[in-house]
Amino acid sequence: MPLITRLDARDAPRRLRLIAIAGYYAVGGRADPGQRATVVLMVAKKVDRDQPAPGRAAVVEVDRVDAEHPKRPLPPIELSATSLGDAIRELKGFESPDAPVVSLYWSVPADLGQLKGGVSKLKDLIKPVRERAASEGLSHEARESLLADADRILELDQLVPKLQGRTLAFFCCNERGFEEAVVLPGGLPDRVELDATPFMRPLVMVHDEAHRYAVVVVDREQGELFDFYLGVLEAKEREHDKALRNPNFAAGDREYGVHHKAQELAKHHYRKVADALVQFLQEDGIELVVVGGHEESVPAFLDVVPHDLHQKVIGTFIVDPHTMTPASVSDVAQRVVDDYERREEEKFVSEAIERVAAGGLGALGIEWCLLATDELAVDRLLVDAYVTEPGRVCDSCGWLGLTGDECPVDGSPTRTTPDVIDEMVTRVLESSGHVEHVHIETPLRDHLVAALLRFPVPQQEGATS
Ligand SMILES: [Zn+2]
Repeated sequence: MPLITRLDARDAPRRLRLIAIAGYYAVGGRADPGQRATVVLMVAKKVDRDQPAPGRAAVVEVDRVDAEHPKRPLPPIELSATSLGDAIRELKGFESPDAPVVSLYWSVPADLGQLKGGVSKLKDLIKPVRERAASEGLSHEARESLLADADRILELDQLVPKLQGRTLAFFCCNERGFEEAVVLPGGLPDRVELDATPFMRPLVMVHDEAHRYAVVVVDREQGELFDFYLGVLEAKEREHDKALRNPNFAAGDREYGVHHKAQELAKHHYRKVADALVQFLQEDGIELVVVGGHEESVPAFLDVVPHDLHQKVIGTFIVDPHTMTPASVSDVAQRVVDDYERREEEKFVSEAIERVAAGGLGALGIEWCLLATDELAVDRLLVDAYVTEPGRVCDSCGWLGLTGDECPVDGSPTRTTPDVIDEMVTRVLESSGHVEHVHIETPLRDHLVAALLRFPVPQQEGATS
């Protein structure tokens, strides 16, 4: 049912923006000239008109047309995407020992001209699924399940226009009636994995870095707050105060007085913006802040923010609040955020290496980290973002290792896994630990993984890290 709302023309742009943010879609409107005119808007709930935002829950739907019977509608293709946090919680508990789970990461090009390429990439990605279905040593049910999964994945090509510039993470196992989808930022490597458990590392990698940031843009009379999450910038709130024009006068008593008054007004305004920011952080549970504005307004604003808020500022950028657009703010904020993330990665790697050198709570190298993971000792696992390592898993007790058909803990038969690092990541998350994927060149390259530990786990005799 469309909802009809009346609003004052002067208020219309703001209201329209708020309506768009709330996920409503304006389908009509009329404005008469003149200040006091009334705008009539018909507003219908239609979340999926827009592209789904990365990391958030969304329902994506497209209508299909049968080329031979264009008048006869086909059932629409629907995909229900889960929020990133919920998906990780769901997936880490899922295991299917009989029919493999298909884990797909499909990056859909942002460029309209390359969308066809996106569809043919999807076709390439399902090849290994069909090949496995045709291979020896699978039960009839497992084969049927894989073929059904391949068909389901193939129909996702219809969603290309909605997923433009996004990576779709998709997990399914038809035999278990299991399907989970997450919309991620674009540009992640395409990949398909078949295993007893979902392949979660790219998902976890995005999640590690998916801090929510408050972005504030200030000048002497404006202050605008944004919520920045996974590259999507959402306007939140605006503070507007009066400033005195031309505050920079030459010397002279009267002018000094005016100048002083202007300074006081600006200070008062910056404090109001800081208060609004503090409230925003508290209400939305946001830990980190990026500050933008004119060259002179950024330090002037930072001068008045309380100490504990100052601690949360991870970087600043220069922008002209009068000419900025959401896209330009998003770009510069992203650069500040990327810088911060890389600094964090470096800090964790050096800490792990220092701890190991000092014989403290650290572990280095895959064997040592597997031992620590098996003992649930890992507080933070640091993983080179670009490597995988095959290994063995015991499904009965959860033991992880590099070799051995038999579990050293309980003697059960083990299974191979294409990436034991992925299993470690899942195990660490299950034991309330953290995982950090390291993208930059650090000494971790030589060791693949490192860990900060909760209690000491000695390295095995004769092992090398
Ligand atoms: Zn075992």
